[in-house]
Amino acid sequence: IDNESLDRQIGVVAEVAGYLWERGWAERNGGNISVNVTGLCADAVCELPALDGPYPLPKPVPHIAGGCFLVTGTGRRMRYVASQPLANVALIRVAADGASYEIVADEPVRPTSELPAHLSVHDYLIGAGRPERAVVHTHPIELVAMTHNPEFLGKDVLTRLLWSMIPETRAFCPKGLGIVPYTLPGSQELADRTIALLDDYDVVMWTKHGALAIGTDLIEAFDQIDVLSKSAKIYESARSMGFVPTGMSDAEMQELKEVFGL
Ligand code: 13P
Ligand code: ZN
Repeated sequence: IDNESLDRQIGVVAEVAGYLWERGWAERNGGNISVNVTGLCADAVCELPALDGPYPLPKPVPHIAGGCFLVTGTGRRMRYVASQPLANVALIRVAADGASYEIVADEPVRPTSELPAHLSVHDYLIGAGRPERAVVHTHPIELVAMTHNPEFLGKDVLTRLLWSMIPETRAFCPKGLGIVPYTLPGSQELADRTIALLDDYDVVMWTKHGALAIGTDLIEAFDQIDVLSKSAKIYESARSMGFVPTGMSDAEMQELKEVFGL
């Protein structure tokens, strides 16, 4: 691909893939990344002939019909996405009717098995007129562990607990964490349950599996999960020191909300 802005986006995919690996969130091929590059790639790139496909999508994505997306490949390791992005990431193009996609560059890398979730999220974002263009799914250890406690799965229980661990989480994850009950990985049902929460929450947690975050860019999406993960680690750290952390009080969190206009 000979396109400067696209190259820059591939560079950020590689950067964030490296962070996921360093965090210990990306065992084997765990996690996947996508970026809507429709406006970024010049017409010449979006009109490249298909290398592979078309492949049907489980549900049409009309709002992103004709769009181009960078997506990590299925079965690909984040540590290798970091070191050799062109060999582990695909540029795909959604068909004009939104019902299928083709792989257009750089190699015929098959997209992530979570493509239904990624494309459904992008379709929802464009349809809702929202500015986010990046999606990260990863397996953050402490957050996933917390979803194994049924007491944390009640509405907004985990959000309030994580907010209360450190002021930054309240400030930088103001809408908190929505929780999808355990759902088959890669399924359209998981995609549908995810987009149902995007109006109300910053990050969506897939019970006993992982997190999905959106951002105007990948750094922002990564940071959202990183901030929540920090809170989860503080909670774990306190519990392993032998006590239940007090947490900030509701009044302290309310004060933050007012002062920072959250
Ligand atoms: P892929 O290798 O297909 O991206 O799957 C990894 C994953 O985390 C599935 O949820
Ligand atoms: Zn996963």
